[in-house]
Amino acid sequence: MNELKVLDKTFVPFISEATIQEKIKEIAALINAEYQDKKPLFISILNGSFMFAADLFKQVTVDAEICFIKLASYKGTQSTGHVITSIGLDSNVKDRHIIVLEDIIDTGKTLHSFLPQLVNQQPASLKIATLLHKPEATVHPLTIDYCCISIPNKFVVGYGLDYDGFGRNTKEIYQLKD
Ligand code: 5GP
Ligand code: MG
Repeated sequence: MNELKVLDKTFVPFISEATIQEKIKEIAALINAEYQDKKPLFISILNGSFMFAADLFKQVTVDAEICFIKLASYKGTQSTGHVITSIGLDSNVKDRHIIVLEDIIDTGKTLHSFLPQLVNQQPASLKIATLLHKPEATVHPLTIDYCCISIPNKFVVGYGLDYDGFGRNTKEIYQLKD
């Protein structure tokens, strides 16, 4: 893996395709064991989680549905602190077993503002699965039920994650070069 140039920034290889896929298989196995006969509804948070959602969903062997919602709190490499919903939820959440899919949990702000909206709709259960987690960046603590990889508090791109819209189209994850 080589360095990756995205707009004005340089990124260095951080997590390989093999590691990402192996970790996804591990959490898929846990989900498959836990959700037999529960017909879970996955809610993938766009844009960043689309690759993770696709690869995880391919490994899910129980009957399941998936839908997508668009939330955003990031501009450039900094969280704006404001969570904007620009595509709403079109599925019925009541009495469903929900698994929310995130690309990365950083401050926790996005889920902290979105989860109460789901809880209001009275799901049968509500769990969180994330590809990446930055424990050091936590502002709003959350229980993360399925976490693929914990990382230090540094900006990453690739595998769906962007820097100002670019850099999503890689199989690996890259970290901002010092
Ligand atoms: P939080 O609301 O937990 O602070 O941030 C969650 C969202 O911020 C993620 O879904 C992601 O879109 C964005 N984000 C947080 N950290 C990073 C990062 O290191 N790289 C990129 N590309 N996006 C990030
Ligand atoms: Mg996101």
